[in-house]
Amino acid sequence: MSETPWQKNLINIEPYVAGEQPEFDDIIKLNANENPYPPSPEVRKVLDHFSYGDLKKYPSIDASPLREAIAEYYGVKKENVFTGNGSDDVLATAFRAFFNSDLPIVYPDVTYSFYPVWCELLKIPSKTYAVDEDFRINVKDYYEPNGGVVIPNPNAPTSIGEGRDFIVDLLEHNRDCIVIIDEAYADFGKYSAVELIDKYDNLVVTQTFSKSRSMAGMRVACAFASPYLISYMDAVKDSYNSYPMDSIAIRTGIASINDKEYFEQTVNKVIATRERVSKALKEFNFKVLESSTNFLFATHPEHDATEIFEYLKTRKIFIRYFNKPRIEQYLRITIGTDEEMDAFLSAIENFLS
Ligand code: PMP
Repeated sequence: MSETPWQKNLINIEPYVAGEQPEFDDIIKLNANENPYPPSPEVRKVLDHFSYGDLKKYPSIDASPLREAIAEYYGVKKENVFTGNGSDDVLATAFRAFFNSDLPIVYPDVTYSFYPVWCELLKIPSKTYAVDEDFRINVKDYYEPNGGVVIPNPNAPTSIGEGRDFIVDLLEHNRDCIVIIDEAYADFGKYSAVELIDKYDNLVVTQTFSKSRSMAGMRVACAFASPYLISYMDAVKDSYNSYPMDSIAIRTGIASINDKEYFEQTVNKVIATRERVSKALKEFNFKVLESSTNFLFATHPEHDATEIFEYLKTRKIFIRYFNKPRIEQYLRITIGTDEEMDAFLSAIENFLS
């Protein structure tokens, strides 16, 4: 078939593929790094009392009340905070605002697979540095001049978290570009770089309510940086969508951030389950990377990863498999409730026998 003139103008892009969202209830869903526990009961109260008539009005143009609540929680100023419709929206906004160099931006070869998609969409030149055989990022690779750096810490899907020394080293050797640290999973780890935003005026840290705050369906996330950098993110936001945060997202986001006790309890439960499951998998002879996230990244020396993945599906247990170089023998397993993880471990035991 010959191409019509307008077909030549269509975008040609390979999009990011998210984890499956099967539409039936009786499955164990360990494939999208969602939190198995519900959001804070304070979020429920907001929803129960939300006056539907309020929806006739536009939301706050800059989600100010939510920015204030986040700033207070983290001990920063409201001007240090940007909010968006999930960290995918926040990151895409940051890529647009900060990655406009002719030099390539750099990130690890094994990492969040949305980065190359944004580079393609936004025509940002990019380059990857290989993580080592233990999937660790070699910070020295990033000493080379570049047009920007983006690194998830902890990294996904490897689950490995780096500490303060690594981030400071990275920042000290990248004074001429913007460095984005994607902290989608930082609440399950040991270190957050938010404390460094005053010291490094080229640092941007992004976080999300999707994982540790159980609000993936509400699409709430934020970035921390100097007021100067935040003003550039606001300018991008106001150039394509003035209201990425809807009224319900703003109010439930505030309720969530204000309930510190529930947040800490939930995160600690997930961490305790993670450590238990990691140990159990090692007893089944899996190699499991040390996780600072709400998921495990594991491989079995004697069994093909796709076989395990497919077998678990027959047991209605969904985990994540990436058919990609270097990680094609690995499985990513989101931490569910203790009950769900017991079912997972018993399915693994059956598979192995
Ligand atoms: N960064 C990383 C490393 C992720 O794994 C994810 C989840 N897919 C995100 C960002 C985006 O999450 P959300 O848009 O739900 O905040």
